[in-house]
Amino acid sequence: MRRFLVAGNWKMHGGLEMTTELISGISREVLNMATISEQRELAYDILVCPPAVLLQHAGALAKSLPISIGAQNVSPHTSGAFTGEVSLPMIAEMGCEYVLIGHSERRELFHETDQDTAEKFAACVNFDKSVVPVLCVGESLSERQQGQTELVVERQLNAVIDAVGIQGLDGAVIAYEPVWAIGTGETASPEQAQAVHAFIRAKLAGLDENIGQRTQILYGGSVKSGNAEQLFSQPDIDGGLIGGASLTVEGFVGICRAA
Ligand code: 13P
Repeated sequence: MRRFLVAGNWKMHGGLEMTTELISGISREVLNMATISEQRELAYDILVCPPAVLLQHAGALAKSLPISIGAQNVSPHTSGAFTGEVSLPMIAEMGCEYVLIGHSERRELFHETDQDTAEKFAACVNFDKSVVPVLCVGESLSERQQGQTELVVERQLNAVIDAVGIQGLDGAVIAYEPVWAIGTGETASPEQAQAVHAFIRAKLAGLDENIGQRTQILYGGSVKSGNAEQLFSQPDIDGGLIGGASLTVEGFVGICRAA
């Protein structure tokens, strides 16, 4: 049985105060428990991905709670003259257990290519401490309209598989985020999302049956408490990657309750 993962991507929102409020609010409302020793009782895992400068604060707050912290991006390099970049050892030291790789905003706004994404993913696989890569894939509206959804998703997956092999995906998380559903209020229907999730799982399973079956595949794109239950009831949807609705305790907790 795959566990559910409910992940919040705060993007470039928040500050120290919001971080404290969200993490303590989530723990109060959802977990209704104080310590990590009780984590086993939760049927799903919780992840929040604040901006890089808030990771230390978030990591310290979440340390004794069953809430994981993730970064939104990372350099493929371990250290060196890369002004403005943040490395895997740095985010791991701040308490990160996950990192988003290849989010569509990185691809679109910061011109990250499939190759860049593959290098970052490979850096996670080769890193000696455990930071789980959450590989984001998804098509644009015009690509969907041209019937290229599977082609695009497969190309994005292949870039990573070519770099690390199918074994490199063992333990990683995949997030299917159709670009046209991100921040638009327009969600993929449960059937549309399920179809792509099944395609992704079949692709992985074709290379390694066990990896295909155990890989968590999250859906992202305008998930809210009102549509989460239907999306999460699909057989190949194992949770969500939430943007806007993860910025309030109420919004995020409502989605957690659907998991
Ligand atoms: P929204 O939930 O705001 O559509 O954002 C989705 C997303 O990009 C999560 O990574």
